[in-house]
Amino acid sequence: MSNSFQNFNLNPNLIKSLNVLNYNVPTPIQSLVIPALLNHRDLVIKSKTGSGKTAAFSIPIIQHIKWDKREPQVLVLTPTRELAIQVKEDMFNIGRFSRIKVEAVYGKSSYESQAKQLKQRTHVIVSTPGRLIDHIVNKTVDLSHISALVIDEADELLRMGFIDEVERIIHFLPLKRLTILLSATMPTDIEKLSNLYMNNPELIVIEDNE
Ligand code: ADP
Ligand code: MG
Repeated sequence: MSNSFQNFNLNPNLIKSLNVLNYNVPTPIQSLVIPALLNHRDLVIKSKTGSGKTAAFSIPIIQHIKWDKREPQVLVLTPTRELAIQVKEDMFNIGRFSRIKVEAVYGKSSYESQAKQLKQRTHVIVSTPGRLIDHIVNKTVDLSHISALVIDEADELLRMGFIDEVERIIHFLPLKRLTILLSATMPTDIEKLSNLYMNNPELIVIEDNE
């Protein structure tokens, strides 16, 4: 396993932001996930809460973003508004020197102002399922250029009953995309989801006692 972020061929802007964040050594899950995602492989990732999964997917995804493209390229689905805000902040911090724009979209907050934000150039959308569907139905979001989908806390999404919404959203996305699913546990519903919507994913597991 790699014990330095320097070994991943990351661009200097990413290395700089990791230094500012004081991320000196990759966590075990990051050491496995970063090279796999840099190789454009679909991944199912299981490791416990607090193991560093957000940076594990964010670092390689931000490295792949085409800065000049004006449409959203990355969609991260989260079960709660709090997590959407957290992931937005983490991705903003990691993408700070790459000047990546991240928008969070969630319920119980002004639909109009989100619609306005989504009209600006944004590279990444982090969203809860319900509000994103509102934006899809009202055509206030363009998902036709999404090249990476991240399903974060998939077990929570399913436990909270968002399976139909998640499937509905996936049907609006281009087929040719990278799909990454993260979870702390692996109920059988997650296997079904990955079989249906992922392209021969590699399973990366760090056991809870490691
Ligand atoms: P998970 O999604 O697996 O629950 P998070 O991605 O939220 O975990 O990370 C947990 C905490 O660890 C966060 O506070 C994050 O800033 C910190 N963290 C992540 N990667 C590193 C790293 N390489 N070095 C130090 N801290 C890190
Ligand atoms: Mg997480």
